[in-house]
Amino acid sequence: MAILSFEELINKCENENKKIYEIALEEESKIQDETFDVIKIRTLETLLAMKDAIKSGLLSNEKSISNWCGDDCEKLQKGYQTKGSILGKIFEKITTYALATAEENLRMGRIVACPTAGSCGIVPSVIIAVAEEKNISETEQLNGLITAGLTGLIVSNKVQLAGAVAGCQAECGVASAMAAAALTQMMGGDNNEIIQATSLALKNILGLTCDPVCGLVEVPCIKRNAFLAIHAVTASELALCGVESKIPLDEIVDTLKITGQLMSPLLKETSQGGLAKTKTAIELEKKLFNNK
Ligand code: SF4
Repeated sequence: MAILSFEELINKCENENKKIYEIALEEESKIQDETFDVIKIRTLETLLAMKDAIKSGLLSNEKSISNWCGDDCEKLQKGYQTKGSILGKIFEKITTYALATAEENLRMGRIVACPTAGSCGIVPSVIIAVAEEKNISETEQLNGLITAGLTGLIVSNKVQLAGAVAGCQAECGVASAMAAAALTQMMGGDNNEIIQATSLALKNILGLTCDPVCGLVEVPCIKRNAFLAIHAVTASELALCGVESKIPLDEIVDTLKITGQLMSPLLKETSQGGLAKTKTAIELEKKLFNNK
């Protein structure tokens, strides 16, 4: 029987005296009907695919067909090299890796949808950048990744993870919550701290709309990956210091679903409202179609 709520997950962890990643491994083993070893190998393959996407993205400045996006990762790399950054190396790596991956997606490169292609830069950038800078072992990265996976799975039991269903809160927002869970695990957080980090990340993106210009997963999607990767780190930092969400995680997930239902269809991937209907977006759309 699948775990359907975070309350159930925590009870199971407490009753069996296990960490969330251990329960996640058991869950995946059941879902895929495979041994723990096979699940670990598949998780490693996923992590390696994430690393490959970052590597490719760091080397390319190829623009998308629209010519709107594709070189922001390069700008970041150059900018950080020459001017540095306000918050230092981990911030630089997270934002650069998030853009590298999201830009690979717009070039139709190979990425890991986690949970979706539009939000593909958030989980990898946080796990891989922090692991590199903090010398976190591959085993711990995998424990973080599988923790993130179960987090996304439990949310998806209640809400379809698609901008067309519940807005970007269900894509980049959930990705940020997954990244917060992964990071908190990797930094040695206990089960409650992992749940709190997830709660804080998810709670603070409720209402995020999906309004891609011209229906392309480019504006605002690409740069949003960098923003919500950092959002995940904020949630994890707070949780690791003992800050807790007053609203329990399951209720936040319910709220995400209800907020998605209340959201106008104009703001759910139809490109009929929000940023997609600004004066500039309409001009961009006209130019794009006239040129193609
Ligand atoms: S704005 Fe919409 S299309 Fe873009 S990443 Fe978010 S949910 Fe996906």
